[in-house]
Amino acid sequence: MDMGLNGKAALVGGASKGIGRAVALGLSREGCRVAICARNKDSLASAAEEIQRESGVQTLPIVCDMARYDDIQRAVHDAASAFGRLDVLVNNAGGPPTGTFETLDESYWLHAIEQNLLSAVRTAREALPDLRRSGSGRIINITSVAVKQPIDGLMLSNATRLGVIGWAKTLSRELAADGITVNNVCPGNIATERLVSLIEERARRQGVQMADAVQLEESRVPMGFLGEPEDVANMVVFLASGKARYVTGTTIQVDGGSTTAVF
Ligand code: NAD
Repeated sequence: MDMGLNGKAALVGGASKGIGRAVALGLSREGCRVAICARNKDSLASAAEEIQRESGVQTLPIVCDMARYDDIQRAVHDAASAFGRLDVLVNNAGGPPTGTFETLDESYWLHAIEQNLLSAVRTAREALPDLRRSGSGRIINITSVAVKQPIDGLMLSNATRLGVIGWAKTLSRELAADGITVNNVCPGNIATERLVSLIEERARRQGVQMADAVQLEESRVPMGFLGEPEDVANMVVFLASGKARYVTGTTIQVDGGSTTAVF
């Protein structure tokens, strides 16, 4: 199926590992050039090399902390200059730490707001002129199923990601006439480093073995297994494609059926 992504250009945040990396690979397999962002130069460079080798499509590593506005401005500028266009923006960064209300001080809140809410707002603001020129711009925010069912112990995620959903809904209506779509993808339990560290932390807190904690997570998913980063990437690639031109303002979970909420 032609997804209409060949020759287009994307910028993907938090993409040296996990879901972001899988998204970048998925887009590049469709012929879309990709700029990938992360903070660590070496892991970013090897991810870019692997993606380019596998897809044969130009992949540009850009060192960028998504929690810093000056980094974001430089990243969007460098990606658009290198590709001569920017059609797809995938807003993604590491998840905030766990903690209870009384353990999370002001500095944690400010960082989570910058990394998980303002990063999306700022990247979209910087990329908007290019997305408008594209005629079929795409903004896709990676959030979490926590926006449908808040997760205990993940207060910072529960709070900041709902801000993304509210912002994205309004933005989708403001930009629809420009042919730009804005959607949110909510991963459930996806087997990445982030998930492993969350399960480890829960196992420690509850005094159970890691293998038992993993089994417990799997048993909570109606499909009976943890998702792979590629499962999320497939949804993102669809939303980025021409096939999804009439889909905007939505919040879609990729969670093996684990969310019990209707919407
Ligand atoms: P991960 O930790 O495996 O990978 C995160 C990637 O982002 C890495 O490449 C890391 O280097 C990069 N990164 C982290 N902080 C960054 C920053 N400030 N600036 C630039 N790059 C940064 O995480 P993941 O599992 O792929 O998750 C991606 C997002 O999806 C996170 O926000 C996470 O909370 C969310 N999420 C994941 C799951 C899951 O099950 N994996 C579930 C719900 C939500």
